Amino acid sequence: MSFDCAIIGAGPAGCAAALYLSRAGRTVVLLDRASFPRRKTCGEGIMPEGVEVLRELGLYEDAAALGRVFRGVAWTTRDGRHARCRFPGGEGLGAPREELDHLLLKRAAAAPGVRVLERSAASGVERTAEGVRVCLDAGELFARRLIAADGASSPSLLALGVPRRGPARPRFGLAARLKGVGTGDLVEVFLFDGGELYLTPLPGEGRVSAALLLERRALAPGPGGREEAFWRLLLAHPALRARLARATLDTPVAGLGPLATAPSRCEDGPWLAAGDAAGAVDPLVGDGIGLALRTGRLAAEETDAALRGDVRPGRYTRRRRKLLRPKRRLARLALGLSRRPLLARAALAALRAYPPAFSALLRG
Ligand SMILES: Cc1cc2nc3c(=O)[nH]c(=O)nc-3n(C[C@H](O)[C@H](O)[C@H](O)COP(=O)(O)OP(=O)(O)OC[C@H]3O[C@@H](n4cnc5c(N)ncnc54)[C@H](O)[C@@H]3O)c2cc1C
Repeated sequence: MSFDCAIIGAGPAGCAAALYLSRAGRTVVLLDRASFPRRKTCGEGIMPEGVEVLRELGLYEDAAALGRVFRGVAWTTRDGRHARCRFPGGEGLGAPREELDHLLLKRAAAAPGVRVLERSAASGVERTAEGVRVCLDAGELFARRLIAADGASSPSLLALGVPRRGPARPRFGLAARLKGVGTGDLVEVFLFDGGELYLTPLPGEGRVSAALLLERRALAPGPGGREEAFWRLLLAHPALRARLARATLDTPVAGLGPLATAPSRCEDGPWLAAGDAAGAVDPLVGDGIGLALRTGRLAAEETDAALRGDVRPGRYTRRRRKLLRPKRRLARLALGLSRRPLLARAALAALRAYPPAFSALLRG
């Protein structure tokens, strides 16, 4: 089997890339080791720039039907200081990942020129004279170009000999859905010493997605395992004790990490990487899904250009870096504050006094 492009990984990055390549008239094979719908450890909030891509792909109405709109972010420090901000334009969407990702996959499968293969793990990738060869458990396929969109651990980049590194102080995430938590139309962020909890409103009475991001030592599970550690950490925050008084788990607690790993390069010859595979931004900016959709679009544009003979090594890397720069800056700032509670308190007070600064921050 031979295609213009093989895409490994059918999360938001892979599906967006497939949909944009289909629009460009290309033949695509989109493969994923999972069978959809599949669970994904995530805080499940899509920021406005990601929602814009869903609109562009004609997916917004269907995505909104399975999600819940939010219009800004509220922060609460450990000592109860509070600040909130509405998005200057656009809206965010909280949506269960298995449903959102399944919707994207179904749309990709229905797009002209796209062949979707589920339960198809890429067990190896090799460069050939014409492009790439992708080995599957049952057989192989060929393509002129490859987009690696297989997430934060990206086995396909490792197979291509590209090492991956994480930040010096790695962080880890725990996530679960909760019931019985009254919500408004804001994502709520509770700042711990050295970490944060995000509550993203989901459809269903009192249903939220809870994502806890902390350094490993704080996440070391006690004898009660992950679930016990999750509640212990949450209820250590004074403002959360009352807030979660009636909360119960709606899903098991899942863990993931280290966060924010990146490969040494995100393009070489016939391949590009998109989404988390190309380098994940710490989820504390809450924009991994949006960036996956946007870098998926970028990877499709560059792949289509290369298939037309317009090959410019380094151009994708530069365009991607430019797209991510504001988010990386915001992540560095927020991480610095998250590690310095006194500074975070002062920053919140300053932002409360000058709300436009909030909007600028949220725009990244
Ligand atoms: C705790 C936590 C909370 C988060 N909260 C948020 C949030 O609130 N908002 C937000 O925007 N982002 C959040 N993120 C980040 C977000 O989940 C990711 O950035 C996003 O899922 C990246 O999408 P992707 O398409 O690049 O990869 P993924 O969604 O990870 O998809 C990769 C796909 O590749 C497939 N795959 C892997 N290996 C192979 C293989 N060998 N062969 C075939 N297929 C393969 C997998 O099955 C998977 O379907 C959070 C992350 C964490 C860890």
